[in-house]
Amino acid sequence: MARKRKTFADKLAKSREQRGEVCPTCGETIKPIMVVTPTVSERSGAFRFRRSHVRYCSCNAEEIFK
Ligand SMILES: [Zn+2]
Repeated sequence: MARKRKTFADKLAKSREQRGEVCPTCGETIKPIMVVTPTVSERSGAFRFRRSHVRYCSCNAEEIFK
């Protein structure tokens, strides 16, 4: 797997996440969380987990945890 090269912009984005970004809609701190979704590969039929990073606050909490 190729390693992603870190740019200065990436570092800025990361430090912003650590400080905590506030959602303009609900006023809560946006938390970056990792969501693991079990999926079945259509090609091989193998069972695997898909990981995605989601920015979580009250606005999308129901959508993520339904
Ligand atoms: Zn929100």
